[in-house]
Amino acid sequence: MVPEAAMTALRLMERWARPYQAAIEAEIAARRAAEPFDSEIAEAQRHAHALFLAATPLKGNQVRTLSSQMCNLSLKAFATKHGIAWDLASHHFRRKFANYAARSQFGDLRYLREHFKHWSMDMTLGYALNESQEIALYGEIERETQGIKVELFDSWLNPEEPLAGGYGRNIVAWRATAPVTLFKSHAQMVACLADSTGIRSNGHAWCTAEDNHCVGNDIEPTRCADCHHAVVGQRHAPLYRGLYDHLKEVTDRDDIGPSGQALVQRYLQRCRRVLVALGHHLEEA
Ligand code: SF4
Repeated sequence: MVPEAAMTALRLMERWARPYQAAIEAEIAARRAAEPFDSEIAEAQRHAHALFLAATPLKGNQVRTLSSQMCNLSLKAFATKHGIAWDLASHHFRRKFANYAARSQFGDLRYLREHFKHWSMDMTLGYALNESQEIALYGEIERETQGIKVELFDSWLNPEEPLAGGYGRNIVAWRATAPVTLFKSHAQMVACLADSTGIRSNGHAWCTAEDNHCVGNDIEPTRCADCHHAVVGQRHAPLYRGLYDHLKEVTDRDDIGPSGQALVQRYLQRCRRVLVALGHHLEEA
């Protein structure tokens, strides 16, 4: 859900936070030794695994998670130090975060709701988000998601766009019936369809199923090729082509048994159907 640079920064923060986390552990041990029922023990435990930690000199260097005010002071100091003429504040990152969250979950706000439930229990974000901010952020992610879905549906409704998968085949058949006459305009049709369809990207297809419990999401990706919930587009073609080529290499293996052979043939045919529907030419198609 985050770019590579954020992963690098987080790994760095993991190392940077270790001495602070050790200080919290030492504080917990000292408090336990002095008074096992000290209510500050539970409070300290809530910060023990946070990354953005700092010591507060006014409280005897007690280590706790950085507050949003402290984050904002640091951001402003950073901007000043680097000559950036911008009154930088943490909420400026919200839009970008919404964009990443939307692209990551790709239209499936059911996951985002789960994430928010989890996030609201997280201390670090607890400092950064209050309930109304959370709703605003959720709204921004929803808008970003809707934008992505509209873009995607617009491409699906392009008569030149080849689509595979059961849902994809239905779209191809449906768009041949001049459906725009049912709507005021093409833009309204795209917005309406994007609004009414839940879409989740699983890497090898866009899945429109109600939940993510299907094995097509992970264990058996070729299953999406024939599923009536799936749309497979050109951007997925390299994956099916690679799989097709690998499967062809094992078709004449005699050490995988009859069931292995049947599996290879089944997957091979699925990949072939996708590639042919997407306009790819296969030697044995
Ligand atoms: S097989 Fe169908 S329901 Fe399962 S992940 Fe693929 S598109 Fe979704």
